[in-house]
Amino acid sequence: MNAGRGLPDVEIIAVGSELLTPSKVDTNSLWLTERLNALGLEVVRKSVVGDDRARLEAAIRAAFGQGKIILLTGGLGPTEDDVTREAAAAALGRSLSFRDEIVEWLEKRFARFGRKMADINKRQAYVIDGAEILPNPNGTAPGQWIEQDGIRIALMPGPPGELKPMFEAEISPRIQAGLEPAAIRTLVYRVVGIGESDLDQLIAPVYTKYSNPMTTILAAVNDIQIHLRARCPTAEDAEALVAEVGRKIEPLLGDRIYSRDGSPLEVIVGRMLHDRSATVAVAESCTGGMLGERITSVPGSSHYFAGGFLVYTNAMKTGLLGVDPDVLAKHTAVSDPVARAMADGARERTGSTYALSVTGIAGPEGGTEEMPVGTGFIGISGPNGTDARKFRWVGDRRRIRHAAVQSALDLLRRRMIF
Ligand code: ATP
Repeated sequence: MNAGRGLPDVEIIAVGSELLTPSKVDTNSLWLTERLNALGLEVVRKSVVGDDRARLEAAIRAAFGQGKIILLTGGLGPTEDDVTREAAAAALGRSLSFRDEIVEWLEKRFARFGRKMADINKRQAYVIDGAEILPNPNGTAPGQWIEQDGIRIALMPGPPGELKPMFEAEISPRIQAGLEPAAIRTLVYRVVGIGESDLDQLIAPVYTKYSNPMTTILAAVNDIQIHLRARCPTAEDAEALVAEVGRKIEPLLGDRIYSRDGSPLEVIVGRMLHDRSATVAVAESCTGGMLGERITSVPGSSHYFAGGFLVYTNAMKTGLLGVDPDVLAKHTAVSDPVARAMADGARERTGSTYALSVTGIAGPEGGTEEMPVGTGFIGISGPNGTDARKFRWVGDRRRIRHAAVQSALDLLRRRMIF
């Protein structure tokens, strides 16, 4: 897709055997992808390769391609298993040369910390012939930048605290120097209350017509982000382009769009409460405090969060919120009337403007044929009356509880819009 837009394809290779274990995640490539996307570039492939010279050489060769940018992270340390320099040199058919100036720099760095450099660190003084040496003010492994036959390759250290500053100071400017001058504008929609496939079916006919802006859809539990990123010669063009596509997408999603600046739902709801000088209380059963946690994770929420009730047993629902035992007996705890009564009780007892309640079956046990796992009710009580909505959330316990919190926040948002 990049090539279609006259932009280079980027490939990331993360090096390190520990990244192939269950305990270490390659976060460098995620960070790099985010930075590259911000330049309007797309990562077309990424891989993780262990500390094996031959395999890494093969992976680098496989990444070769006209106009390609290949970013390698890790494996630049001083030990025998740090093989990135050798593998990249072999893949490019070049030699490595020992550079005295790097040894001098390393010795000075060690001296600054009152230490003597171990001989083993001299391995880090080998540079691929023709490569530019990239300073690493935060560690001992210098980076390298090589251009050959229309391919650009960067060797960067693995520790994120070394990689990130080196990318910003050395790699990003080199990548940008090879691009036509351009302005980038991003529009982020956040959407609730629709599944990823339904959303895609709705908006794909619009965004697939455009390769610029580039569209990325990121789906979390009951929360989807749509990123439109335009790259144009001028800022006005880029703004006009994202706005053009945005204008076509917005009516398809309507009020399911809750944010246009990337803010999460709890922030949006918090702003709305603040603007209306309103407060909210919560009464939670199956979410066990998660709704209150989400609301109060926002700085300043103490101005609009009255408090919450964690009521699992029927006795607690009655004792703390005044839910009528007859209603509980007749309808069961997971029901429309109980959700309403919980919300009313929380509102009355706290004197808040609004109150939300959550009651449901998070599973894995407790489901029945008419009330399968994932069934739940959100109640809302406010100045315009009391209401409850039935939901059928899908997934495991964790997803169901997250989806319930999101649904509750969304119900409050909708109540405040209308
Ligand atoms: P050093 O000079 O510190 O040896 P290096 O370039 O050889 O640097 P590695 O030895 O591969 O880097 O990794 C050092 C540490 O950096 C790892 O223990 C790990 O914590 C972190 N690291 C390496 N690669 C990644 C990655 N892709 N994502 C996140 N962390 C990483």
